[in-house]
Amino acid sequence: MIEEPFVNKILKGIGVSSGIGIGKVYLLERGRIPINKRSVKEKHIDREITKFRSAIQSAIDELNRIKETIPDADVKKHAFIIDTHMLMLQDEFFVNAVIDTIKNEKINAEWALDIIVSKFLAAFEKVEDAYLRERGQDIKHIYDRLVRILVKGKKSDIEWRNISNKALIVAHDLSPADTIQLNLNRIVGFAIDIGGRTSHTSIVARALEIPAVVGIGNITSLVRNNDTIIVDGDEGAVVINPTKEVEKGYILKQHRLKTQKREFLRIARLKPETKDGFKLKVGANIELIAEMDIAVRYGAMGIGLYRTEYIYLSRKTLPSTMDHFHIYKKLAENRALEYITVRTLDIGGDKFVSDVEMTKEINPAMGLRAIRLCIREIELFKSQLMGILRASAFGPLRILLPMVSGVDEVRKAKAVINECMDELRHKKIPFNENIKIGIMIEVPSTCLISDLLAREVDFFSIGTNDLIQYTLAIDRVNEYVSYLYAPLHPAVLRMIQKTVTDGHNNNIEVGLCGETAGEPLYVPILLGLELDEISMNPYIIPKTKKVIRGLEHSYCKELLQEILRKDSPKEAELIVRKEMARLFPEDFLKSYKE
Ligand code: PEP
Ligand code: MG
Repeated sequence: MIEEPFVNKILKGIGVSSGIGIGKVYLLERGRIPINKRSVKEKHIDREITKFRSAIQSAIDELNRIKETIPDADVKKHAFIIDTHMLMLQDEFFVNAVIDTIKNEKINAEWALDIIVSKFLAAFEKVEDAYLRERGQDIKHIYDRLVRILVKGKKSDIEWRNISNKALIVAHDLSPADTIQLNLNRIVGFAIDIGGRTSHTSIVARALEIPAVVGIGNITSLVRNNDTIIVDGDEGAVVINPTKEVEKGYILKQHRLKTQKREFLRIARLKPETKDGFKLKVGANIELIAEMDIAVRYGAMGIGLYRTEYIYLSRKTLPSTMDHFHIYKKLAENRALEYITVRTLDIGGDKFVSDVEMTKEINPAMGLRAIRLCIREIELFKSQLMGILRASAFGPLRILLPMVSGVDEVRKAKAVINECMDELRHKKIPFNENIKIGIMIEVPSTCLISDLLAREVDFFSIGTNDLIQYTLAIDRVNEYVSYLYAPLHPAVLRMIQKTVTDGHNNNIEVGLCGETAGEPLYVPILLGLELDEISMNPYIIPKTKKVIRGLEHSYCKELLQEILRKDSPKEAELIVRKEMARLFPEDFLKSYKE
């Protein structure tokens, strides 16, 4: 029986890249292919072995082709994982084990492969070393590739020539090998079963401004190739087979968003200055080099926060100094950016890097993370610092240290930076001798001693995501306590205010790069606090500039005083919403009414 296709079926997920994509489904079936055991007659054994050998050859050919046709030079550098897969496919021990099983058991090639791979995987699972255990995943990838070839007799990779323009990729997940092959010009959206904001696909989608919804659960089992679907990256929704009327509504929304985007891009380069002449810098938070151009296009004056964790996430082994250097040099050479703040590795807590052995901790948010880990793993820290320092010869890079809790940590980190500088001087490698060193203010203790810390560093960057988490004791990834998350909590505002005052008394700049800076509603408060810089997701910059340019600084200072007198964050929030709805009805009336 042929099932009726869905009409207007709406699925919810997490919107991770803004915009509306309307297109035909290109289903990337990456689910397990069912295989059956078949007995093979003696006279057909050789045929089965030949089938297996030619599957191996096809898999190697496929991988070779993927390597040769990687469209992006940066991505090419990560192709070594494909070499590993090719070597495994040629491993005599593995190939012979499968062939012997076909012969001895008189069974079909895919069943023999399954037996051998299951044995290998069971052995890998017992390995204590985490790195070696991980290699089991590579065997699984090879297994999937071979089974696809054996069972379906067809290529298992994305045949981009077969994809029409305006394809909407639907997949359970995209492996790095999948993403490596994408010709992104043809794709109008992604709808993915699993993943979150920081998954591989999400980051790439955002960097390339392709609408994407992830974490949908089961979309791969609900759509067929060539179904029409709509991906709404703002609402985190997907509509399967929309009726003409629904599609028309989304086309209108798409036009509206495009017009808004054009309008935003038009105002993106305007100066962030209030009506009465108060200036501050507006920077961008980025995670990928590919986002650098977006930051500039959307009006960033500099990079307020470059989260470098992705450099570690996107490869199987730890990056070398030269890996770091090449990446930071690209940023440094961008003449449109006035400053580039490179934050040193901030893993632990809610962020992990598979290759760095982390101890299992009961309370990782307060554990051996970020600067604490770097100070302990000096070589890990130094290779990144050397990369930043070397690249500083090419442009205005700054170093930002995360998760600092006290003065001693800063001194230790600075001592390591000095060691790196000595080494470079000794080798006669140029770097910026006056590179600015700053710290994240995200642990409450640093606000209380911001006067002491301000004497040690060149700038502060307030990370409200963690500062709010630690001040109000609310786990930032725990949905049950998210209702307590309150940027306008008097404790948070007082801490920021003290930090700014202490910074300014010591003639250092104070910026803010947490999500609070990315909420235009809070702009008058941030202006009232007299921050020198705010840094945010690049897409928010134009709207933020519009709001800054529509406000009087004197008004913002008064509003801040009124808010600081409120003991209830809810009440404070309401006042700000009401004021913003009054001042910018076209932008904020809706959020006030809600
Ligand atoms: C913060 O904590 O506010 C911050 C900007 O850093 P991250 O979100 O990367 O922890
Ligand atoms: Mg943080």
